[in-house]
Formats: sequence, structure tokens, C-alpha cells
Amino acid sequence: MLSKTIEQVERLALCMKPERAIGLLSSLPASAIEAMQRARFRRTLRLAAEKSSFYREEFRRRGIDVRKIEHPSELGDFFTTGEDLREHGAEAFLTGRADTAFETTGTTSPAPKRAYFSQKEIDEIGRTSALALHLLGLRREDRVLSAFDCSFWISPVVVRSAFQYINCFHVEAGKIEPLEFYERALAYRPNVIFGEPSWIVRLSEIAEARGRWPLKFLFAGGENITETARAAVERVWHAPLYLNYGQTEAFGAIGIECKEKQGYHRNDLNFIFEIVDEDEEGYGELIYTTLTRDVMPLIRYRSTDITRLVDEPCACGLFARRIGKIRARADEMVVCGMGNVGPWVFAEILSDVLTPGADWQAVVKNEGHRDVIELRVEMDDLMSQGDVESRVRSNLRERFADFWRNHEMKLYELEVAAYARGTLRGGRKLQRVVDKRQMLLRRVV
Ligand SMILES: [Zn+2]
Repeated sequence: MLSKTIEQVERLALCMKPERAIGLLSSLPASAIEAMQRARFRRTLRLAAEKSSFYREEFRRRGIDVRKIEHPSELGDFFTTGEDLREHGAEAFLTGRADTAFETTGTTSPAPKRAYFSQKEIDEIGRTSALALHLLGLRREDRVLSAFDCSFWISPVVVRSAFQYINCFHVEAGKIEPLEFYERALAYRPNVIFGEPSWIVRLSEIAEARGRWPLKFLFAGGENITETARAAVERVWHAPLYLNYGQTEAFGAIGIECKEKQGYHRNDLNFIFEIVDEDEEGYGELIYTTLTRDVMPLIRYRSTDITRLVDEPCACGLFARRIGKIRARADEMVVCGMGNVGPWVFAEILSDVLTPGADWQAVVKNEGHRDVIELRVEMDDLMSQGDVESRVRSNLRERFADFWRNHEMKLYELEVAAYARGTLRGGRKLQRVVDKRQMLLRRVV
């Protein structure tokens, strides 16, 4: 009964103008949001068990009686993975009639995962996203130019839905060459730009050379960005760059940065979040369960992203709690002679070595009996390879004593390979850490 009332309050809030909605949602106690989450979870779980062949079969096989489950954590070792989506096909997860679908490839397999949605769901996520964009300062009088890639990707649809609630002027360029975007943008004089981080970095390089115009902020999603690259973008435009954290399977809307840029305010209205396999600092894999999806609900979906849940209040004062910065993808963590390493280790080693916008990739190989870590780094001047290598070694020694000790013990070799700018990235996403040894092993198996 209480959760029904809270749901009505929330529905009402989402129909209001964003500033009033934020006020109303802020007035709800945390316990009220949790009660609403539980009610929505129970409904989602029953729907999944009843209508989806994948969940019905999995629950039956594991002897799970969904009527007794109150929270995702009570489902024991049951999880849904990206591999399940690929293997069983999206149809096995459907619980209602879909109006549209999107795809994501991820970094581990070229086979896409498909996720289905209804128009009603798009409208709802648009309202929630409008609240977040309002908090970042987006208003009716603003002019947005978006360069989000429209090919099978969810983000352009979600932001277009959000813009309808904010009523701002917006034009969709699609992901075109940054130089062409720059030249054609001048006609619209946008004061807010949306795009993928690596694309925004290149646009900013062009703007630095040719001249910038006043921006309120830039907004990026689809991949991560180093703080060094973010700072370079902000310096060019004299404006903040905010990040969205999402996945296609999660409707692109797991969390969003606020002006503090200290993690992502999480979307507790549409998800229950958990962390599994936590280390002593609370970092582990982020797991989410959808609460408001009636076409293709996901129960305990493994995001493969390593982060932590931050429950301490944010300096911005917003009621929504946070997800910490993403450290790595669980499927990119590698145990090798260097130690247990993920992309954040190399990002830290390269943080003051890379030129802004340059890509990198770590490839773990095995030559003889020793692991070799080949750090592929894009450089403006390929002749500077020796200089980069010596700075990488000194950063490794100063910042990661344990990994350096393993190097001293000759447990692995570290090599830097020079690549020309723009040559490492083939598709939208770049796999940061590639374990060639594992691939050999898999092929044998
Ligand atoms: Zn905040």
C-alpha cells in the first residue's frame, strides 16, 4: 500500500517540470524509495518467471520459488550474463510486445547482443534522463548538437526522448567526421554538445586549432575517458565535460555525473544495484536488476564493470546515491607475471605520458616462459618511443611498488610499442587489455 502511494508520487513527479520533480523526489525518505524498489522487483520477477522462457527454465532448474523472493540478493548464485543473451537470443527473455530494439557488441565478442523495448519504456527513461540533464543545467533556451552514433545504438533515442521533456532545440548530426561536424555546427551555434568521449577529444583538438565558441557544457557517453583527456577538453572549451554511465542492456541510463564529477548518481528509480565478489575496498562487479521494464526485464544482469556503490552523500546535495568511477571491466582483468592487472593500472601509468586523445592498449603475451606486456601507445612522433618507455618505467616504479618488484624479479617484460595516431581503434570500443595467452588456451579447449 505504501509502495503504491510512493509509485504514484513518483509517477506524478516525473510528469512535472524537472525542477519541481527533483524537489518532490528529494522529499521522499530513502526507506520509501527502497519499499518502492522491492514492490517493483517482486512484480518484475513474477513477470519474468511467467512469460520469459529463459527465466522460467532457469528458476525451475534451480528450484527457485519466485513468490518467496523479496530482493535480488536472495537469488543466490543466479545471474544473467551477456553470454546468456547471445546464446539464447533476446526472444527467450521477452515478456511483452516490443516496439523497437538496439544492439551492443561489447569488447569480448563481435557477435551483437540485442535488447528490446517498448515506446512506453522509452518515454519513461526519457523523463528520468530529462531530470538528470536539468540538474546539469540543460534548459529550454539551450541549443544541443548531438553526434551520438545512430547505428543500432540506444543513446540517440534516449536523449531525443529527454529533449522532448526539456523542450530545448536540438539537431542530430550522427557520428560524422569531427572536422565536418565542426564546420556544419557553426550554422546552429550549439551551446551544448553530445558525443562519445574519444570523438569529443578529436573535435576539441580541431576547435583548439581553429577557434572555439561559447559552450555551457559537453556531455559524453558510450565509453570511459581519462581525467587527463577530460581536462584537455575542458581547457579548450572553457566548459565542463560530464559523463553518462550506461549500457544498451540497461537502456543507457545506469548513472550520470553531477557537477562534482565524483562518480555517477545512480538510477534507483529504474534499477536495484548490487556489487558481487567485493574486495576489501568494496570494489567488485556491478550487478543490476531492472524494475520498470515489461518487454525484456533483466534479473541480476552482470555488467562486467568493476566499481563500488557509494552511499555517502555527495557535495551537490542530490538525494540519489552514487556508483563510483568505473575501474575496469571484469572480463578485462588479467592475472599475469606483473600481478592482477586491469586497464586502470595502465591508465594510471600512462596518465601524464599520453598526449590528449591518444589511445593505448596493453597486450599480454607469453614468450618462452615469461609473460610479456606490450603496451601499445599512440604517439604524435613515433621517434619518441624511447622517451615514452623510460617515463612508463619510472611511473611504474613510483606508483605500483608491487608490480615493479615483480619486474625486478624478471617475472615479466614490459615493452612499449609506438603506434601512429588513430590506428589502434577499429570500432566504437577499444578493448584495453588483451590477453593473447588466454586466447591460445581457449582455442586448444
Ligand atoms: Zn552529486
